[in-house]
Amino acid sequence: MAKLYPFVAVFLLLSASSAASQSLNTSSDSIPGKDFSTGGKQSGEYLQLFAEDISRSNNLVLGVLLPRSIWSPLPRVLQIWLRNYIAGIIVYFVSGGLWSFYIYYWKRDVYIPADSTPSKEPIFLQIMVTMKAMPLYSALPTLSEYMIENGWTKCFANINEVGWPSYILLSILYLVLVEFGIYWMHRELHDIKVLYKYLHATHHIYNKQNTLSPFAGLAFHPLDGILQAIPHVAVLFIIPTHFLTHEMLLFCEGIWTTNIHDCIHGKVWPVMGAGYHTIHHTTYRHNYGHYTIWMDWMFGTLRDPIAEAKNMKDM
Ligand SMILES: [Zn+2]
Ligand SMILES: [Zn+2]
Repeated sequence: MAKLYPFVAVFLLLSASSAASQSLNTSSDSIPGKDFSTGGKQSGEYLQLFAEDISRSNNLVLGVLLPRSIWSPLPRVLQIWLRNYIAGIIVYFVSGGLWSFYIYYWKRDVYIPADSTPSKEPIFLQIMVTMKAMPLYSALPTLSEYMIENGWTKCFANINEVGWPSYILLSILYLVLVEFGIYWMHRELHDIKVLYKYLHATHHIYNKQNTLSPFAGLAFHPLDGILQAIPHVAVLFIIPTHFLTHEMLLFCEGIWTTNIHDCIHGKVWPVMGAGYHTIHHTTYRHNYGHYTIWMDWMFGTLRDPIAEAKNMKDM
């Protein structure tokens, strides 16, 4: 029976996304220029709403941090890339820096034994790897915004177009499909030897408490990081998604990956916290999931940190 779970799950996901799209095709009749059924059929007037959102985000980040004379002459696609690059760096250093300060200094020896606190060397290396990858990471949201602005995806601009109940349902479907996509992308990065050797191994050189740190969260080969984030963009062609929610969830990845690399087991079911992810870094064969334990549970790769600790004690 357990072997049927994956097929049932895929069937349910596809049915739910198709039902959601169909119900929105009906409700979108009243939205001028909007057609949820296919990409590329949205009127220029409707697409202007995405363009305005993008310009507002550019102004919010670039307008505050840089003189207008530096960024406003750039082509629009470069403005978007620069904004994503700066926002990515801010999210990485603020979330990683604050969390590291809290667990290693402020609460020293509370969550992490003092003798397991990572030294400066692995943290510095993680920051270097991340900084090298960040220019390419920033290209993914830039591509996704380009496709959204040109009407290629099923994105919609305002929550009130679909109403809050549909918005919540669609956001849940988006997250479930992202979870499914990231699980399989991550698992293939381990199973396909050449991908592991040339891409994913870069992230797996950190494999214990005193080498893993919140700064390891984005320390990937740039192509590895992009491959694992692709489900966020691919889902836009399947599920009608609120544009700014997609942007926000993509950037939340930066905060989430900080959290799952701190080696502190949060014990909040069904969240796949750092306790699970630390096991992933040590066994290489378990806990490929991202936000929750469900994909690993369904596909038979889950290993529980509490059971693991108990086994070690009994040995
Ligand atoms: Zn891995
Ligand atoms: Zn990791």
